[in-house]
Amino acid sequence: MHYDYLIVGAGLYGAVFACEAQKAGKKVLVIDKRGTIAGNVYTEKIEGINVHIYGAHIFHTNNKQVWDYVNQFAVFNRFTNSPVANYKGELYSLPFNMYTFNKMWGVVTPVEAAAKIEEQRKAAGIKEPKNLEEQAISLVGTDIYEKLIRGYTRKQWGRPCSELPAFIIRRLPVRLTFDNNYFNALYQGIPVGGYTAMVQNMLGDAPVMLNTDYLKDKEHLDSLADKVLYTGPVDAYFDYSLGTLEYRSVRFENEILDIPNFQGNAAVNYTDEETPWTRIIEHKWFEFGKAEDGSDLPKTVISREYSSEWKKGDEPYYPVNDEKNSALYAEYKDLAQAEQKVIFGGRLGEYKYYDMDAVIAAALELCRRELS
Ligand code: UDP
Repeated sequence: MHYDYLIVGAGLYGAVFACEAQKAGKKVLVIDKRGTIAGNVYTEKIEGINVHIYGAHIFHTNNKQVWDYVNQFAVFNRFTNSPVANYKGELYSLPFNMYTFNKMWGVVTPVEAAAKIEEQRKAAGIKEPKNLEEQAISLVGTDIYEKLIRGYTRKQWGRPCSELPAFIIRRLPVRLTFDNNYFNALYQGIPVGGYTAMVQNMLGDAPVMLNTDYLKDKEHLDSLADKVLYTGPVDAYFDYSLGTLEYRSVRFENEILDIPNFQGNAAVNYTDEETPWTRIIEHKWFEFGKAEDGSDLPKTVISREYSSEWKKGDEPYYPVNDEKNSALYAEYKDLAQAEQKVIFGGRLGEYKYYDMDAVIAAALELCRRELS
């Protein structure tokens, strides 16, 4: 059997391309190193709960086309992400909104909150924020920076905020309203039945070979198709010949508890520096219809999330898009563009901190270029 496309990686990017390529009459073969499809959005049913095995994924987008696209493959529930921050036992509402400001300073009106932030920004003397620390202080002031940002960010990225790019913190909304929706997105939800089923629907009838390591058997696998879509790490593809791109990795400790409700919310961030985990996810609250008293499900599944520096062999999660790594990626990108038969895409293939909707938009854009 000869294929038009060999798709390396059965995550979202690969699955969108597999779906569209088949619609365009192309023959595709999908392979994945893991024993499962769906990449890092993979969910698995444990104790009747869809557990996000590789970390919490909340679908959110402002892109109507992407929203309509994913809704072909799953029904989405109305989950709205509103994490709680736990700073040494003090609980704060996230993202930064009037509930947060009221708890932090006792301010009641938006004018009072804005004045407090302005006062702290002035005292810090920041004109043009050059890094995450300065950006955070100029957005929300020193108190919030110290209690809700500094420790969490340090744990998540393994570097002080003064050494991180400002854009990371601009992902978080700051609101002078009582809206604690974490995302500025028109559309948001979690696929009912889990992401794995959604990705399976995208893959459709495409043949999928799991436990297949492309780079270990590259010559043979390349010979099976005219073209290759590679969604693995770009530096691994080139055998790290120019050096290793850095990632942050994440480790999860999953626990099944004999109580129905552990923390009353899907996500609780531990924002102090001493608690070793960054957050705890209680997966049942991503879904609806789970009773708080446990009358339907007496148990709950939680995941403590630990952030770590990636080393070869670990799962890469977050590209570290600082200057050094961006410069190295630019060199790899030149090599990638020179590969005649291979297209590079996705979070790892493009070394880009993509959200799910952006990955789908990018894959659809590739489909337009490649398949029309
Ligand atoms: N962040 C923080 N405190 C929090 C949550 C987030 O300081 O309680 C910062 C942190 O620097 C993080 C960034 O905001 O890297 C972006 O957070 P987001 O939740 O978007 O990260 P992700 O969900 O992709 O891990």
